[in-house]
Amino acid sequence: MFAMSLSTATPSFTVPSRASVREAVARIRQAVDTGDSRDAQRDAEQLLTMVAAGDRAVVLNALAHLHAASGDALTFARLAAEARDAAQMHEDAESQAEAILHTGQALQMIEDHAAAIKYFEDAEQRATRLKMRHLESRIWRRLGISSSIIGRHAQAVNYLERSVQACKELGGGADWFAARNSLYNAHNRRIEMTIAEGPERVEAYRPYLPRWQELADEAHAAGALRISAVARGNYAIARRHVEDFDGALETLGEVLQQYQAFQMRANIAITFNEMGTVYCQMKRYADALTAYQNALWHLEDGSKREQCESYAGISLAHEMQGDATAALAALKKVRSLEAELTDQEARAAAERRELTLSVKQFSEQWEKLAKEDSLTGLPNRRAMEQWLHSALSRATPAQPTTLMIIDVDFFKQVNDRYGHAIGDRTLHLLADLIRQNSRYADFPARYGGEEFVVALPQTDLATGADVAQRLNHSVSAYYWASIHPELAITISIGVASTTEMPQPYLGESLVELADHRLYAAKNAGRDRVVSR
Ligand code: GH3
Ligand code: MG
Ligand code: MG
Repeated sequence: MFAMSLSTATPSFTVPSRASVREAVARIRQAVDTGDSRDAQRDAEQLLTMVAAGDRAVVLNALAHLHAASGDALTFARLAAEARDAAQMHEDAESQAEAILHTGQALQMIEDHAAAIKYFEDAEQRATRLKMRHLESRIWRRLGISSSIIGRHAQAVNYLERSVQACKELGGGADWFAARNSLYNAHNRRIEMTIAEGPERVEAYRPYLPRWQELADEAHAAGALRISAVARGNYAIARRHVEDFDGALETLGEVLQQYQAFQMRANIAITFNEMGTVYCQMKRYADALTAYQNALWHLEDGSKREQCESYAGISLAHEMQGDATAALAALKKVRSLEAELTDQEARAAAERRELTLSVKQFSEQWEKLAKEDSLTGLPNRRAMEQWLHSALSRATPAQPTTLMIIDVDFFKQVNDRYGHAIGDRTLHLLADLIRQNSRYADFPARYGGEEFVVALPQTDLATGADVAQRLNHSVSAYYWASIHPELAITISIGVASTTEMPQPYLGESLVELADHRLYAAKNAGRDRVVSR
């Protein structure tokens, strides 16, 4: 449906405009909320093949969002990695912040909440700086969920209340319902973990009955059907908690209808098992048997654990009805399933371990990507700035830091005459020469296009100028014809030192002075070093 409207709006041989990409992405996200995500995934994948490079990150994030809904952690992590990479390359800070949120979410899915929280906090800082209120509200919800699961209940409630408030101010919608669902869940988890079973716990659950009900109704009315079904399921469980068994049955019947409409087989089976439990508690064993049989019918090829639940319930119900033979037969089924389950569990544990390692590996790669330039492998500008900031806080007049800025002479002509591939190889080789000319303690970085910076700790201006001179010679003497027969490369260098400025030393001032001298070197005819 959506694919058609996209292709009529923008013929497939043209790249869709930024506005139409955003519009399509908004529709994909909405499909997740209304539970209609299979078509949305196909649409997103198609869109990804059409968009301009600068819009890739936005689409990748939307696609990741789809996989989060289906619970596929590894694909989710991969997409988030790609989105983060694309966003960084095109300086799309907003998509980058969202991709970092997604990284945390992948870690949350594999239950590494401590690592997840670190990513959420990074994403939170960025979202706040960029004034992305909508993203902030999503991040707070994630922080709330992880905090709740690891037992930091007060903090969880605090985050979730902020998320609910922010979503409300932003006009409600599916995110608002999801935030409220998470908030009530956090409250209920606190009850379960801190109050012993008994009348006090029952009373603690009671105030949540109207909240769950209201949430399910409002979400349903707003068309957020997925979250409505989830909230209604939670309402049914709350009714069982307060021993309102008739009410629990009624709600489970409604939930069942919604799951049937979405064809969510696994959820249907779980709901039937839940019904069986309620019937047993009501001593309605014949009804319990029917419910468990229904669950089993939906569990064909499904979860062994749920099948176990069903057979255990069947055994109990038969026993209570005085049919010992049938009870024993069901119990045998439970035993054989338990045996299979152990196997299955071992396999699942192995798979989970593999998944954990892959997600971790992705996260580490991104850490590196964030600080490393992909063409030359040198630290990038951001890493350089961080390094300077900490090095200059330690520099003194007696232990100065000197900095050189290097710019390739007439590099545009290299690209124009020999092509970008040769241009790239030149930069790569130049980076190697810079590395070879650096001491262990020096910090070389790719500062921008064809500009490099080398910071030299515990080095004065005169020594720095000598090092620059040596580098200038090794570049002009290098056998560039190995790349292209006509290629010859020279560089200009500006050098400046903390000894020339008052304390406290600022990275920007040092770079500015060196840059000023680089210009002087260019004006004086290039292929030279200027240090005063
Ligand atoms: P000048 O001597 O005044 O520095 O002349 P220039 O031609 O080097 O001028 P300028 O520094 O303005 O040009 C830099 C060029 O470097 C522009 C851009 O096309 C090219 N460039 C920047 N990054 C890359 C890259 O990653 N690969 C390639 N191949 N070219 C790049
Ligand atoms: Mg330049
Ligand atoms: Mg240049």
